[in-house]
Amino acid sequence: MTRTTAQWQAADAAHHLHPFTDFKSLSAKGTRVIVRGDGIYVWDSEGHRLLDAMSGLWCVNVGYGRRELIDAATKQLETLPFYNSFFQTTTPPAIELAELLAEITPPQFKHVFFGGSGSEGNDTVVRLVRRYWDLMGQPKRDVIISRHNAYHGSTMAGASLGGMSGMHQQGGLPIPGIEHIQQPFWFEQGRGHTRDEFGLTAARWLEAKIREVGPDRVAAFIGEPVQGAGGVIVPPDTYWPEVQRICDQYGILLVSDEVICGFGRTGQWFGCETFGFRPDLMTFAKGVTSGYIPLGGVMVGERLARVLIDEGGEFNHGYTYSGHPVACAVALANLRLLQREGVVERVREELAPHLAWHFEQLADHPLVGEVQTCGMMAALQLVKDKATSEVFDPTLEVGMVCRAHCFGNGLVMRAVGDRMIVAPPLVMSIAQLDEMGALIRQCLDLTL
Ligand code: PLP
Repeated sequence: MTRTTAQWQAADAAHHLHPFTDFKSLSAKGTRVIVRGDGIYVWDSEGHRLLDAMSGLWCVNVGYGRRELIDAATKQLETLPFYNSFFQTTTPPAIELAELLAEITPPQFKHVFFGGSGSEGNDTVVRLVRRYWDLMGQPKRDVIISRHNAYHGSTMAGASLGGMSGMHQQGGLPIPGIEHIQQPFWFEQGRGHTRDEFGLTAARWLEAKIREVGPDRVAAFIGEPVQGAGGVIVPPDTYWPEVQRICDQYGILLVSDEVICGFGRTGQWFGCETFGFRPDLMTFAKGVTSGYIPLGGVMVGERLARVLIDEGGEFNHGYTYSGHPVACAVALANLRLLQREGVVERVREELAPHLAWHFEQLADHPLVGEVQTCGMMAALQLVKDKATSEVFDPTLEVGMVCRAHCFGNGLVMRAVGDRMIVAPPLVMSIAQLDEMGALIRQCLDLTL
């Protein structure tokens, strides 16, 4: 039985609490009901087609409706829909995925711990990091340093690692032992510096925090190679190598949260490869299955893995769905598709330069104060005064106005404050990128 949009909205308002949503205002406005997807487009219950420039939520990297992924799920559901990786059992898809991940991730990674999401992955990171330092005889090394405006998930540990002030205001966050430093946001804080100078300055905020906390107390530093949900904050090229140097100097573990950047989004398989650093741990989710089914996890570098395996005894942590066979089968199909079609290489050589070209054209728009791109992700900073880079009064919610014009005109684009961001599928044609560029300009004109 199909329903009218009004009927869907009424049932939704009656029963469904949406994530990151003002429940009351959504039920007054009514939600948009997305019913179908194909390629880079989705359709709503009114029949409107939308170009999905956010790949769902930074995840549908191979586009909607890919037969290989659907068949992999169906076959595994028929063969064995569930079995766990607890109690000395496992399944062929979990084994094969672990093997493939060890092959495609940087060479320091030979082991993976599976979970169901990026948030669970970052909870696992906290447990692994602290366990490692316990086993190393340094239990006081329990502080993890992260960044303001970072997003590392919604569980208690994930949200604590994250630096979203709105999240910290609710529910007794952050948990103990988490410290934050400023993000490398050149547009906001880098004025008067070159980008390269600012990258070094921002990295050295980490060193200052290590000294403040005490080097023998700091366990790890975690960051997204490019801060995604924070507004596609692309760090200067000097930032990550200097962070790496500082972590090495103080013996601190380096964690790359690759939930958005992983699996080709930045033009290499992993963001740490694009920015030239060598993490000890790597969180992943989203693009591992192109969002077709939930799966996440942590790649565990040999520095930790050897200690945890050889000396750790039982690691008291895990999830029912760690290594879920259907999710692992879909991930295998997805990653093999990326390999077979050369998706990552095409992002690097063809799509990312074309996306960057479009955003350079958009930089001349009167509303745009800055453009930033990295691989297949990009941001436009909306400003009130282009000459002085003065920003709008936040209460005007200009980003939300622009986003509404996008939605009304067939484009899914996200607003983070007054930063308009895209992270489109990694399989677009050049013509589709051109269509997206034209739609963005049209929506900016309507926002003027
Ligand atoms: N880490 C990063 C960098 C993310 O962007 C996200 C989600 O957007 C997460 C972690 C949390 O992942 P999940 O929503 O799958 O729990």
